[in-house]
Amino acid sequence: MSPSEYWNPRTELMLRHDLQKLQLNKLQHIIGWAYANSELWKNKLDAVGVRPEHIKKLDDINLIPFLTRQELNQSQIEQPIFGNAMAISPHQAVRYHQTSGTSGKAPLRILDSWRDWEWVSEAWCYGLYGFGVRETDIVYFAYGYGNFIGFWAAHYASERLGALTLPSGGMSSKERIKMIIDMDATVLVCTPTYAIRLAQVAAEMGINLAKDSKIKLLIHAGEPGANIPGTKKMLADAWGAKVGDFPGMSETGGSIAYECSEQCGGVHILEDHYIQEVIDPDTTKSLGYGQKGELVLTSFGRSALPVIRYRTGDLVERVESNYCSCGRTFDLYKGGILGRADDMKHVKGVNIFPSAVESIIREFKKVNEFQIIIYTERDIDQIKVKIEPLPGYDRSGYQHLQVAILEQLYEAHHLTFGVEIVDPGTLPQYELKSRRLQDLRNK
Ligand SMILES: [Zn+2]
Repeated sequence: MSPSEYWNPRTELMLRHDLQKLQLNKLQHIIGWAYANSELWKNKLDAVGVRPEHIKKLDDINLIPFLTRQELNQSQIEQPIFGNAMAISPHQAVRYHQTSGTSGKAPLRILDSWRDWEWVSEAWCYGLYGFGVRETDIVYFAYGYGNFIGFWAAHYASERLGALTLPSGGMSSKERIKMIIDMDATVLVCTPTYAIRLAQVAAEMGINLAKDSKIKLLIHAGEPGANIPGTKKMLADAWGAKVGDFPGMSETGGSIAYECSEQCGGVHILEDHYIQEVIDPDTTKSLGYGQKGELVLTSFGRSALPVIRYRTGDLVERVESNYCSCGRTFDLYKGGILGRADDMKHVKGVNIFPSAVESIIREFKKVNEFQIIIYTERDIDQIKVKIEPLPGYDRSGYQHLQVAILEQLYEAHHLTFGVEIVDPGTLPQYELKSRRLQDLRNK
């Protein structure tokens, strides 16, 4: 590829040695900043006797204690409302966000300075541009623009690279579909769940999005889906578009990795804006290439809330940059974010990942929505999936669908799932983050 295919060819094509020098430089800077300005970080580093000047080489990151979500939440409870991790005064901030709290945890309150806000949109540009978005594109944002950081940063990135950017705020799904078509939008940004929902609503309106819209790229973040092969294919077919996965999280300031236009099956790590480590979640020992473990993030761009060695709880498998043929020297996560460490469920001695179950269910084209329920019956754990077929699906096909899904789930897990087919319109629909897994045990 020519350098014009990269948002930032200077860093995206940087030799590993130079990239590491850049990372060390930025690490020293952020540690110095956090120690001088954040009470939480001063306390943390003092407690282990580490000073910023002790960070002399990249490996010295191991001297720095991990940061956890629980610690940040606890600090906000003890010192309302922003806690003691902040490195700036709230008056210097320009943006407020809070985490979505879908995982049942208390939401985390986050402020960004103007500089941080510039940085989060810059970080998103790598992905948008690398996946093929250009200044001639018309980018449609289908989400509610609430206080969840979600696609705010991507919105600003779209403007930053010169594309026409269309917000849709509180519009209904029907209104959004009409606008996507009327405005000749070429790129859609939303959660994978909502892109599926839009395709369903369009079908009800008699619209075939693959034919009737000009959307050629789907940009997905906020939850897994675009990295799940069955879901990715379903979305690509429904929209007649390329489907990209752009993992990120509120705590770290949005985008952390991105899928490039080569679509090799992995996402490039934004290595010039983060140090991303992979550790064994139990022993915290550092893991190498090809080993699945927990992602730990150090963000170089978040100055208001320093995020250093943050334990994300996300599971990844890091592979070397040559896994992709695009020429970028940034390493990748094979298969994107594989799930959350706390998403994994044990049922009758079997490890269940909701994303693996989803991948199987999405292979069935007649399935509209689904739910996974884990419960206890006579002291024994049970798992069942509720399956909602597409509207108009003939009830005479229910039993066939049920048996087919049951067989595929058994094949993959060697565990018998309950499979219940429910009528169309029974299960909840989601716009932002889906909650398809219910673990009712111990309740
Ligand atoms: Zn690539």
